Amino acid sequence: MLIVMHPHATPEQIDQVVVAVKAMGLIAEPIPGSLRTAIGVLGNQGYVDDSTIRNLPGVRETIHVSKPYKLASRDFHPQATIVDVGGVRFGNGLPPVMIAGPCSIESEEQMQAAAVAVKSSGGQMLRGGAFKPRTGPHSFQGLGVEGLALLQRAGQAQGLPVVTEVMRIEQLDAVMRHADMIQIGARNMQNFDLLKEVGRCCHPVLLKRGMSATIEEFLAAAEYILAEGNPHVVLCERGIRTFERATRNTLDLSVVPLIKELSHLPIVVDPSHATGKRSLVTVMTRAALVAGADGMMVEVHPDPAKALCDGAQSLSGPEFNELMASVRQLLGFLGFGDN
Ligand code: PEP
Ligand code: MN
Repeated sequence: MLIVMHPHATPEQIDQVVVAVKAMGLIAEPIPGSLRTAIGVLGNQGYVDDSTIRNLPGVRETIHVSKPYKLASRDFHPQATIVDVGGVRFGNGLPPVMIAGPCSIESEEQMQAAAVAVKSSGGQMLRGGAFKPRTGPHSFQGLGVEGLALLQRAGQAQGLPVVTEVMRIEQLDAVMRHADMIQIGARNMQNFDLLKEVGRCCHPVLLKRGMSATIEEFLAAAEYILAEGNPHVVLCERGIRTFERATRNTLDLSVVPLIKELSHLPIVVDPSHATGKRSLVTVMTRAALVAGADGMMVEVHPDPAKALCDGAQSLSGPEFNELMASVRQLLGFLGFGDN
């Protein structure tokens, strides 16, 4: 429930409402606004009887929120959240963050070369998977913990914070030791135990949209992390499964402006997994930036033809360099200056 105060409600009236909410065994979170204060009510299992609250002095109205997410919603948190990953900041109209790197970590040389390609083209973060959620068990499953160290070293060598996927709770400690940001992949978006565990740490999280997840389910997944106390969540649209098989997935770009209406969390777009096709990655990157994405995640491999995973959608170093040149041009047009 959201309690909206009158514009001229006094601080004492606001306090009185907070006390009344707490007396009901619930949590009250005042949200000061430029015109009026609202008070978010959390912790209820079902409908809240608002008869007492509604009649308190200074209260204008109470709004029952039936969405499965509150902490993730704009209603409860009108100000856009900025997520800081080792000094790289996402959200609230800041210049979009370019994350790039291979699908999977394969070797020291591959990661070092990928990091050089990302850094020299102007990328700000390095990605790479050590625990790979592959469709079939016979495909390369990733280098595991050994891979995490390679990713960390490559990131450190170029001064790039790193992001990598965690698939199971038992992997979380190792991932947090080696990475600056934890990725929850599409296949685990509704692994609620994993979400809760990630919510109990304070590492930033990149939460990818599930393959068939609605926007409501996507935000409800983010809510699991926020509800455990970790506010550092960046959402990632990576395409959804539709009837169309010409692309690997269908990139749902309208989700970017829509998420900005519904939520205060930053959102980035992954055009690599969304399209599955190298030739579409740059143009969809540009489209996502026009739609207002707070960043992009692009797969880049020093030698895509030899990639152990997702080579067809990976850009080579020079191709990524061209993408970044084209992004810079667009960002100037979008008013981001030289960034
Ligand atoms: C990835 O980013 O490496 C990945 C596996 O993506 P997704 O979870 O979106 O399929
Ligand atoms: Mn991949």
